[in-house]
Amino acid sequence: MLKPAVQMDGVGKTYAGEVRALDHVSFQVAEGETFGILGANGAGKTTLIRIASTLMRPTQGRVVLFGETDGTAIRRRMGVVSQDCTLDPHLTVRRNLSFHALFFGLPGPRRKRRIDEALAWLGLDHCADAAIHTLSGGTKRKVMIARALLAEPALLILDEPTTGLDPEARAVVWSRLRAGAAAGTTIVLSTHHRDEAEALCHRVGVIEQGRMADGDSDALDAWFAKAAAHA
Ligand code: ATP
Repeated sequence: MLKPAVQMDGVGKTYAGEVRALDHVSFQVAEGETFGILGANGAGKTTLIRIASTLMRPTQGRVVLFGETDGTAIRRRMGVVSQDCTLDPHLTVRRNLSFHALFFGLPGPRRKRRIDEALAWLGLDHCADAAIHTLSGGTKRKVMIARALLAEPALLILDEPTTGLDPEARAVVWSRLRAGAAAGTTIVLSTHHRDEAEALCHRVGVIEQGRMADGDSDALDAWFAKAAAHA
């Protein structure tokens, strides 16, 4: 049995004492596994992703990352792509990547090499010296993905990583995530897309009204049929 990288036990989150976004969610993600979270708008995916990436505390339950309950201990081993843009809008693309690499403790020559590679693989060379606030939404998203992967983190957490990307960029990101997984990175991602879940994930959980169920292929069929019926 592989060691769990992410372990959630009975996690609940209630906003402002009344909106119950998560209700007793329990699951494990083994080291090197890619776990997908599927769910409709408002189901609780982002809340779960924020808790897994230590950006938010649950109101109930326990989160253990690589055996640690103190999130700060593993933050430097984590790459996070949230839904909101968390880049510094007034710094250039290269400076944003550079600060992140410094935080991760990448030494100088390796830092430069990794940044150049990250800029190249997502076709960002042409805007390396542009300030973030001048970029399109999709380009900002690419920079966030490049930043999350920069230091080869042990754990990657991505909230709808390919939303807003053009098809070519989406394919590049898929291939990078697959390569990361093959190299042993543990990945947790949320998505609305079955093809994305099937292309990338070893296992999927379906979240509905804050509760998580196993997303085997029957459960996915049922969930997508229900979603189509509402469309
Ligand atoms: P989407 O697919 O639209 O991004 P989601 O599955 O990520 O949705 P969440 O953003 O986790 O869903 O929201 C889950 C529930 O918690 C929703 O009912 C939402 O309105 C509520 N919620 C989220 N953030 C807050 C907040 N800061 N304060 C109050 N309620 C919140």
